[in-house]
Amino acid sequence: MTRLTNPRMAGLLVALVAGVLLTPRHMAAQQERRYGGGDKDPQPTKATLAIVGGMLIDGTAGTPVSHSLILIDGNKIVAVGTKDTLKVPPGAKTVDAGGMTVMPGLIDAHVHMDTIGHTDYQYWHQTYRGRIQEIYAISSRHMLFSGVTTALDLGGKMEDLAGYKKKLQSGAEVGVRLKSTMGFITDLSESYVATWHRGYQTINVHNAEDARGAALKYIASGAEVLKAYTGLNGPEVKAIADEAHAKGLWVTGHVEGIQNTIDRLNAGQDAIEHTGGYALGGKVPDEVIKLMLTRRTWVCPTLVTNGAQIDAVEWPEFWTDSQRMKANTPPEIWADIRRSLDYPNRVLTNFGGFVHWRSADESKEIFQQLYHAGVRLLVGTDASTPLNFKTDALIREMDLMVRYGVPPMEVISMATRVNAEYMKMGSQIGTVTAGKLADIIVVDGNPLQDMRDLRHVAVVIKDGKVVKGAAADAAPGSSPTSPTKSGDGR
Ligand SMILES: [Zn+2]
Repeated sequence: MTRLTNPRMAGLLVALVAGVLLTPRHMAAQQERRYGGGDKDPQPTKATLAIVGGMLIDGTAGTPVSHSLILIDGNKIVAVGTKDTLKVPPGAKTVDAGGMTVMPGLIDAHVHMDTIGHTDYQYWHQTYRGRIQEIYAISSRHMLFSGVTTALDLGGKMEDLAGYKKKLQSGAEVGVRLKSTMGFITDLSESYVATWHRGYQTINVHNAEDARGAALKYIASGAEVLKAYTGLNGPEVKAIADEAHAKGLWVTGHVEGIQNTIDRLNAGQDAIEHTGGYALGGKVPDEVIKLMLTRRTWVCPTLVTNGAQIDAVEWPEFWTDSQRMKANTPPEIWADIRRSLDYPNRVLTNFGGFVHWRSADESKEIFQQLYHAGVRLLVGTDASTPLNFKTDALIREMDLMVRYGVPPMEVISMATRVNAEYMKMGSQIGTVTAGKLADIIVVDGNPLQDMRDLRHVAVVIKDGKVVKGAAADAAPGSSPTSPTKSGDGR
């Protein structure tokens, strides 16, 4: 993992050194680099949309570009430069980003489209299974309006998700760019699965051949990644990984204890979800770290899952009366979720009691251990676990990473370029670069100074369309009960 110095400190240092040592010619070269003159894209003659002004953080973790200008034609970025190096072609719509920060659309590497924060899973799944397409649309809206333009869904039910993804692909529905496991693969007792609230989303297997069959079934249903959830042993994971890798897909999942972690990684599991007592718990032994580095394992810490309920104790009204949830959720569904928040002990019941302060501290320690060892880390949230609303989850995850010692510029790069690379979409999204898809957000603030400024996403552009902000031209979600049809949600 690239280690970055604080860009502002680096800038200060450059300025000091420049003042003492550099000739005017060198200084001009510095300015050229800083203001984006170095790598200018050729001036296009045609563009449908221009983002004018603002500081560009392009996702590569390079120096921010001041007074940037980005040209988009259709759904693609066609040029990235500055107000000095590029002109807005006639006929292009403009978005004024002056005084704000321009960034790639954020990517959440672990979500659940079928939940939106209710604290009682059993009740939720029973009540809303028949309205699941509507819930997916609400999930998309919660993410898009908070600047998340791409998500990796690690659950769901294949038949439901296949329908939703078809709608997204046809353009009938505006939502997040979505990849999905289409469900879980487990090896649990049949009696447990029969009563488990997500039993209907799983294929339960008891040997390697069953596991191979489950993998093939998910791949045939359109899964882009497979989820090796709890109970699986090494040979079962190997069967799943072999089938996934043969199709160019990858495998993520849980681990249970040290030996199971070693077995799964050796079997070819590419990524591990969660850090904390219930997954990758305790101090990670050196041999496991070594194995992770050798196998280039990805780890998605989902720090915010542990932190969500703790935040809710410290500042309850932000969660129980979230204006963003209220504005972007049909009133009767929000009222139902809101009622469930009166019983926070249900959160503990749903998670077997693991969500507590100690678990959050443990997550932090493991995260820091992995980060300093150079393990490849992702930014994902497990939203929407109870109270872990998609309207805020990724921003809180990024903020926690900064608090745990990662430089803000590196966190932004992880939530954009690195997550895109992990999702095998690095050539399409993750940076603001000519040739890539136009998923771009404009933030009223500077996340390099305070990551929580990401709460103020002023404009969201997904696939070249403005879905939030001035002159929005597409409204996410097709729910008939949607309170927000203007595409200008909070
Ligand atoms: Zn999850």
